[in-house]
Amino acid sequence: MKIIACILLAFPLLAFANAGSGPRFDFRLYKKEATDTAPTILIIGGIQGDEPGGFNAAALLATEYRITKGNLWVVPNLNFESIIKRSRGVHGDMNRKFSSLDRNDPEYELVEKIKAIIQDERIDIVLNLHDGSGFYREKYVDRLHGPQRWGQSIIIDQEKIETHRYGELMAMAKRIKNAVNAVIDNEESQYRVRNTRTREGDVEMEKTLTYFSIRNRKPAFGLEVSKEYLTHERVYYHLLSVESFMRELGIEFERDFVLQKASIKDKIDNNVKLSINDGKIYLDVANARHRLGYVPLKKSAPVNIDADSPLLAVLNDRNGYKVRYGNRHVTYLQPQYFDYDSSLETVEIKVDGQPKTIRLGSLVEVRKSILVDPVPGYRANIIGFRKAGLKNESGVLIRREDIASRFSVDRGASLFRLEFYKDDKYCGMLLLNFGKNKTAKISSLSRHSEPVVH
Ligand SMILES: [Zn+2]
Repeated sequence: MKIIACILLAFPLLAFANAGSGPRFDFRLYKKEATDTAPTILIIGGIQGDEPGGFNAAALLATEYRITKGNLWVVPNLNFESIIKRSRGVHGDMNRKFSSLDRNDPEYELVEKIKAIIQDERIDIVLNLHDGSGFYREKYVDRLHGPQRWGQSIIIDQEKIETHRYGELMAMAKRIKNAVNAVIDNEESQYRVRNTRTREGDVEMEKTLTYFSIRNRKPAFGLEVSKEYLTHERVYYHLLSVESFMRELGIEFERDFVLQKASIKDKIDNNVKLSINDGKIYLDVANARHRLGYVPLKKSAPVNIDADSPLLAVLNDRNGYKVRYGNRHVTYLQPQYFDYDSSLETVEIKVDGQPKTIRLGSLVEVRKSILVDPVPGYRANIIGFRKAGLKNESGVLIRREDIASRFSVDRGASLFRLEFYKDDKYCGMLLLNFGKNKTAKISSLSRHSEPVVH
C-alpha cells in the first residue's frame, strides 16, 4: 500500500505590507493524506477569532500530526483576520453567514471557499472546533452549568441525516462522548451530547457552518470546550475528541508529543519561528523581547513571511511590523532598510571549535564560542558585540559573555543575531542560540514546496 503523508499549504507567504488597501487574510488548507480510499475528516478551527482552544488545536493537528492511514484535512485559521486581531468577528460572526450572504460582505469569498471544501466529495465528516462558555448540562445547575452553556459538549443539529455513511449523528456522538469521558477523570470536564434540533426552528443555528454541512448531506459535529479552561487545557480536550473521531473512522496517526496538558502547552508556546523574505531573516520569537530593533528589511519591497505555524502573521503598523501568533502579540519589528545581496548562501564557522558549513537563515546552537571564517568582501556583525576599531567581526573568537544581553532576540538573553553584509548591502543572518548546553546542531524552517491547493 502506498503511504504518502503530504501537507499542502495554500498560502505559505503572507504579505501585509500594504494594510491600507485592505489586506487579504486567507486561511490555509492542509491536506494530510495517507490513502485515497479511507475516510477523510475535515477539521475547522478559528471560525470565530476569540476561541484559541479551537484554532490552536487545529494548528497542532495541521503541523504536528502525521497521518498513516486515511486522510485529515485541516483548516486551522478560517477567520484569520479576526484571530490575529483578537476579535470574535471583525466583520460580524462568520458562523452566521452560511445560509445566505450578501455578495458585498467582506467575507463572502472566504465563506464560499470553505463551503466548496465542505462539499468536496472526498470529505466524509466535518468537525468545527469551538470554545464555548461554561459547561453544557441538560438541566439548569447554576450560572455556569446548564442548558444555557456550551462548554464540554458535542453538538449535532439533528439525530441523523440521509447519507451513504456516518449519517447516524446521535449514535456516533454518543460513542465519541463515551470514549472521551473514559479518559477524563474529573466530573466537570466530562462531555455531553447536545442536539440543537436546528431544523425544528432554531433560526440562529440554521445560519451555521455545521447546518450548511448537514443540508448538503455531510455529517457535521460542533466540538465545544469550556472557556473556563486555559488555552492549552482547551486544546487538550479538543485533541482528545478529534483523536476519538479519527479512531472511530479508522484513521491512523502519529504525533511526537504525549497527549498531556504540559506537553501541549510546550508545543503551543514554542512553535513560533518565522522566516522573513525567503530566509533572509530567521527568528524564533517564542519568548521574544517586546521590540526588536534594526531588523534589516528590504528597501521598498513588501515583507514576506513564512512560518510553520498557520497562526503567525506580520502586520504593518506605523513605521514597523507587529508579529502576531494567534491571539497573542509576540513582538514588534523596528526595521532598518537595506538593499539586499544574494551572493552569499553559506558561511564557514567554527562552532565551539568545530568547523561547519552553515546556510544563512539557520538556527545554530552554540555552547561556548563561535568564530566566523573571513570571506573577502563580506562583513560579519553580531548584534550586541562591540570591540573598539573593529568593523568586521569575522576572524574573532566570540563568546556569550562578549555580547551585551540587552541585544538578544529573546527575553532569556540566549538568542543573538549574526548578520552578514557586502559593502552596504545585507546578505542574511544566522540565529545563534547560547541557551542550550548541548552539542551544537543546526536546524532551519522546513521549506514548503508542495503545490497550492485551494
Ligand atoms: Zn464558537
